[in-house]
Amino acid sequence: MDKDIKVCKKCVLNSSFPGISFSEEGVCNHCNSPRKEKEKVEMIREDTEAKFLELIKKLKQDRKDTGYDCLLAFSGGKDSTYTLNLLKNKYGLEILTYTFDNGFLSNQAKDNIKNISEKLGVDNIIFEPRIDLLGQMFINAIKNENMYSQAALMRASAVCTTCINFIRYHLLKVCIEKDIPMMIFGWAPGQIDQRSVIMQPNKRFLQKAQEVFTNAHQTVLASHMDKYLLTAKAYDSEDISIPYFVNPLMFNEYDFDKVQKTILELGWKYPDNTDASSTNCLLNTLGNYVHEKRYGYNPYSEEISELIREGKLTREEGLDKLNKQTNRQVLEACLTKLGIKEDDIC
Ligand SMILES: [Zn+2]
Repeated sequence: MDKDIKVCKKCVLNSSFPGISFSEEGVCNHCNSPRKEKEKVEMIREDTEAKFLELIKKLKQDRKDTGYDCLLAFSGGKDSTYTLNLLKNKYGLEILTYTFDNGFLSNQAKDNIKNISEKLGVDNIIFEPRIDLLGQMFINAIKNENMYSQAALMRASAVCTTCINFIRYHLLKVCIEKDIPMMIFGWAPGQIDQRSVIMQPNKRFLQKAQEVFTNAHQTVLASHMDKYLLTAKAYDSEDISIPYFVNPLMFNEYDFDKVQKTILELGWKYPDNTDASSTNCLLNTLGNYVHEKRYGYNPYSEEISELIREGKLTREEGLDKLNKQTNRQVLEACLTKLGIKEDDIC
């Protein structure tokens, strides 16, 4: 690491992280800002879960059919697997799991998806869009520094942001077409904002946000919109009913050991070729590598730092996680699959 780069004495954020400052003791402004008391956090958690239970009750009453209660974005990673188990065994929902295979899912993740779906008795759809199109979007995101805002890039690389957006708007189309009232994601604490835990977004707000994304990828998406995403005409339709977006891990106790124990018992297995931050996607390695080279910090550093501040990870474990980010072999396989060279991008 560069000698001039300073790392916080308490967490793993470094001086390249946007907006960071350090006290004389070498502690960052994030670690020094007052934290919510444990009781308050627990109260918010309980209130949010009560709201979710109310929502389930209401949706079940409103719906006379026997369709799905929710669609889960199922990546086969540890968090979405744990979320699936909660939906099935804690909340008793009828679930359709939907896997968006971006062409870089590890084989173990695919096995996990099949085995866990069988074990829990849920339907699963795997959708694998054309890699020539998706790959071009990933390359655009890697090469074009100004595609996303600095705020968007603080917690995810440009490649990840591309995938996450595509999945969000694609799943929205699937939910609406299948008349499923809830769209569920396995985002864990530290990955998303508390305000997005349970929400039914405004239709026009979503349309606008989708437009920002599709405009950035206009060269690829312009002639394929209808296949993957809702069109302006679909958004204008009177019949369109926007599903609720829910992140159950945000109102369930997120204890790493408990998560791991639960999913291992279900037969989930660790992939042997992903990096320390992803348990399903190989492309994550390339996204993080480019991000760190370009901006000087790893996009997972704030999430890891937050776990340290909460006492769920020691600083040494956090630093170790960051050091295990790049698997050279996987990185090269990603570059080859995308048809680019390292020199082309950094
Ligand atoms: Zn810090």
